This record gives sequence, structure tokens and C-alpha cells, in this order.
Amino acid sequence: MSVTTVQRANTDSQLNTIPDNHKCLLYLSFLPMPTADTLFDIKTPSGTQSSGGEKKILLLKPRGFCAGVVRAIDVVKIALDLYGAPIYVRKEIVHNRHVVEELRGAGAIFVEELAEVPQGARVIFSAHGVSPAVREEAVARKLLVIDATCPLVTKVHLEAVKLAKQGFTIVLIGHRDHDEVIGTLGEAPESTILVSDVEDVDKLQLKNPDRVSYLTQTTLSLDETKDIVTRLLERFPKIVGPKTQDICYATENRQLAVKAVAPMCDTLLVVGSQNSSNSRRLVEVCEKAGIPAYLLDDCGEVEARMLTGVNTVAVTAGASAPEHLVEELIEHLRKNGFTNLEEVEIKEEDVRFTLPSDLEKFTPRLHPVRA
Ligand code: SF4
Repeated sequence: MSVTTVQRANTDSQLNTIPDNHKCLLYLSFLPMPTADTLFDIKTPSGTQSSGGEKKILLLKPRGFCAGVVRAIDVVKIALDLYGAPIYVRKEIVHNRHVVEELRGAGAIFVEELAEVPQGARVIFSAHGVSPAVREEAVARKLLVIDATCPLVTKVHLEAVKLAKQGFTIVLIGHRDHDEVIGTLGEAPESTILVSDVEDVDKLQLKNPDRVSYLTQTTLSLDETKDIVTRLLERFPKIVGPKTQDICYATENRQLAVKAVAPMCDTLLVVGSQNSSNSRRLVEVCEKAGIPAYLLDDCGEVEARMLTGVNTVAVTAGASAPEHLVEELIEHLRKNGFTNLEEVEIKEEDVRFTLPSDLEKFTPRLHPVRA
């Protein structure tokens, strides 16, 4: 199999908005993300082009785990290491079936609500964050809380609190019933209105249209959000938005990679679970470009119809999908005649978040887990 690494292009991101105490270069318990040339034994000199006739895989980069997901899974692993099983986790720690199953096997107990956690037990809040009501319930039940909320979600929560205190009505752009949106709505429920599309914006009736702001879920489609914000600006010219977009760097980068590669492929396979918002957006972005795309939990879900007539298949993974699932998919494709692999990197990604302060001092004890 031949392996080629190709172009990289920088894009804007909002990393400068991450509080300094969340930036960390010191810790990562996961194995480093493999590059294309570590996935296969066969090496090809950089720049080598594919030979004609070979079916090709375009492997997108960045893909897979983001810093918030790495941190959240680390938190569960560390807690299990330090305190032993069982450790309770409210909601799926990240939206990926394989990750949840692996952690469940290691002793984590996933619950939907805190009422299922025994009084005084240790519980972890997921990467998607919780509302203040959940925090209050944890205090009332004397639970020992470890908070794995992604710092970029926390940033949106803090913005909501600040805007509400300043008397703004907050228009929250997001998907109803998503764990992150439920948490953010809970920060200022009296001041916040949820919209999910342009039609929702058209229906808005605000008491004071001159004192209105908007925030967004972190894992939305860049294009759809742009359309919604454009309509908000048309209806409420004085609306105030975040200094930098709330859609996170990982969501943005993975979507930009799909956009860049869509014109070069016949189909896209996205590794990720159905309840992963950022993974679903990758499928939508590709379909919007006129290229079929499929969301797969793993290579066992590849169907013959997905590859019928396909010469070039692009592969990526949502921010909560482990890299070993990508490797297995690549191997599956290789066995099905896609013998040429080309990695397409559109942006270098090197983001790490510090652990919650109560766990940080224990990191040297950790062993790597599967990434
Ligand atoms: Fe944080 Fe973005 Fe990852 Fe969600 S997708 S955990 S917001 S970095």
C-alpha cells in the first residue's frame, strides 16, 4: 500500500479564547494520534503520487478525539485508577458507544440522572456540561463530584451567566434535547430562548429587541449557524454575539477538512456514533457538497452499497471517536481493494486541556489507554 501526506492550510480558530488555566502542554494519557505512515508497514517517500488504477482512501486530518474528549475520558480513567470501581458517570461521558462500553468494562457506571447515584458516592459530570440545578442536586445528595465538562462548553456557560446578569435576552442556537444545550439553557432559563434554525428565528418575539445577544452550541454546522446568525442580525440589528464563535476549534477543523476533500472523493465515511452531534454535522457538510456520506460506529457497519462505484473514499472521525476504530476501518477498506492511502491534513491541531484541579496532581500514575 502506498501512503502519501499532502496539503495543509491554516484557518482561524478561537483558541485564544480558552482561559490560560485550561491550556496545557503537560499531560496526555492517550497514545499520540497515529499518522498515515504509522498505520501501515509500507512506507512511501513524501510526495509520491498514487499509481493509476488503485482505489484510494483520503484520510482526513485533523480527525477523531478533541482535547475535551481526551480530558473527559482521562478523568474517568484516573478516577477509576485512584478510587477504584464503581465510579458513577452522569450521562455518556462523551457521545461514543465504543468509549462508553470500554469505560463500563473498566468499572464506570453510567446513569441518566443523579437520583440513580447512591448518596455520598463519587460521580463524574460528562464533557457536555450540566445545569446549575444538577450541581445543586449533587450538593444536596452529598455526592463527590468530578467535573469533566469541556472548558469550551464552560466558556459558553459563563457567557450565558454574564449576559443574563447584564439584562440581555439570550438566543441560544442549538439542538433541542442535546445534553450540552440542556446544560447551557439551565444557566439562565428565564433569559434564554432556544432556536434551531432560521424558521425559529423568524418566529421570535422579544420584549426588548435592542438588548439581545446570541450564543451557540459548540458542535454545530458552521454554515447553518452562519445562516441563522445572518437572519438574527437582519431581525435584531443590535444583537450582540460572542467575541469569537462558540463553535469549537475541533468541530470547525473537522468540518473544514470535509469541505476541502469533498470535491476529491466519491463518498465519505465518518466514524462516530449516531448521537454525536459533531459527527452528524460532518455527514451533513459532505452531503451538502453533493457527495454521499455515512456515519458508522465501526467498520462492521460498512455496507457494500456504500462503496459501489467508489474509486476514492474519504475517511474521517468525529471528535469522540477513538483512532483504533479508524485504523480498523482503513484495514477493512484495504481488504476491499482500497490499497492507496493518502493523508490530507488541512490544519495542525495541538490543543490540550488541564485536568480538573482535584485530579491534576495524580497524572504521573496513569497508564495509557487506547486512543
Ligand atoms: Fe470540547 Fe469541542 Fe471537543 Fe466538545 S467537540 S468536547 S466542545 S473540544
